Amino acid sequence: MTPADSEVDVLIVGAGPAGLMLATWLSQLQISTRIIDKRSTKIMAGQADGFQCRTLEILDSFGIDRVWKESNHMLEVCFWNPDENGVIRRTVRAPDTPKGLSRFTESVLHQGRMERFFLDHLKGTGDRIRVERPVIPSLLRVDESEIKNPSAYPVTLKLQHLTDEQATPNQGNNIPNGLFRSNLTADDTDDLIRKSLGKEGTEETIRAKYVVGCDGAHSWTRKQLGFKMEGEHTEIIWGVLDVVPITDFPDIRVRCLVHSASAGSLMVIPREKRVVRLYIQLKEVGAGGGAVDRSKVTPEQILKAAQKIIAPYKLDYEQCDWFTAYQIAQRVSDGFEKFDRVFWLAMQFIPTAPKRDKVKTSRYRIPTT
Ligand SMILES: Cc1cc2nc3c(=O)[nH]c(=O)nc-3n(C[C@H](O)[C@H](O)[C@H](O)COP(=O)(O)OP(=O)(O)OC[C@H]3O[C@@H](n4cnc5c(N)ncnc54)[C@H](O)[C@@H]3O)c2cc1C
Repeated sequence: MTPADSEVDVLIVGAGPAGLMLATWLSQLQISTRIIDKRSTKIMAGQADGFQCRTLEILDSFGIDRVWKESNHMLEVCFWNPDENGVIRRTVRAPDTPKGLSRFTESVLHQGRMERFFLDHLKGTGDRIRVERPVIPSLLRVDESEIKNPSAYPVTLKLQHLTDEQATPNQGNNIPNGLFRSNLTADDTDDLIRKSLGKEGTEETIRAKYVVGCDGAHSWTRKQLGFKMEGEHTEIIWGVLDVVPITDFPDIRVRCLVHSASAGSLMVIPREKRVVRLYIQLKEVGAGGGAVDRSKVTPEQILKAAQKIIAPYKLDYEQCDWFTAYQIAQRVSDGFEKFDRVFWLAMQFIPTAPKRDKVKTSRYRIPTT
């Protein structure tokens, strides 16, 4: 076996919401833990923004109340459908969260803020666990002769400490990035000041009792374990815009699902700081039977599709924080752990997923009359 530079009880690969939640639990339990991430900073824009009541209750149990304080609380949900003349009309207005379910309601706040709160919480609980960036694992090996021994460190990982150039992700195509991002608040500034740990370009060998891959949908850990994603892609493409809208649509600050007569559907998710997230069906972008080339989709194209759906109301924006496009798919891994020593943790649920209608029916108790 390769001599290790160090040993740790748990090594977490990936410091997104899943990795940071796990690190928070382990810090409460005072279990020796390291957490690495390939990005040189936490996420600054885009991705998840919806918090269910149960998540808010768990965060509250950790003493993390900043999500509830900063987020936009969802009180109602509205459905718009075409009338007999094909003009969209509001057909349903219902409570967003069923009465009596929780003392919280569903809330919306950018994922980067959530990561900020976890990082601050970890600092506040003794600073024992810090995210090490930018670091990637390059080898994972399990010594099967040691897996039954509770005091053994049977998982060996090689870690590569990257340079900033190797690690800096592009977080928004042609939308301005970096220090001047509009959603950047003062307490993120520290993350943007590159701090040399003196390890860039070096390699390290570490032995762990347990490894948990929290490295997202395209997980490196999953691939090392030999697990495959099974499922299917559809031909349906949705665009996402995080904008401060200029519109006469009356429900722009209410969560809405708008079905037009022939231009497709869109969802309105009102966010913090006057931002609104729009999920927009892109009927004119085809995947051509394969994977959609997302680099070809522009915010202007997504806006145009939204304008058609929401007509006769007007929709425009001056400020776009983030945009993306994605192809609707449902996939599940054929495995999640090996030897009870290496685990892969991932969940991706997007509001426009194929089974969303069924979920919505049970969550929102839509009136039938
Ligand atoms: C447009 C959009 C909207 C969404 N809306 C919602 C929503 O409203 N609510 C919701 O719950 N979810 C939503 N999701 C899904 C949500 O983003 C994911 O479920 C969530 O980010 C998963 O968290 P995670 O920590 O598992 O993975 P990620 O957030 O993907 O984090 C993975 C982390 O691992 C790091 N990493 C990856 N590979 C490596 C490696 N080899 N080495 C080291 N580090 C690595 C990455 O840098 C990243 O920091 C949405 C996603 C999208 C794209």
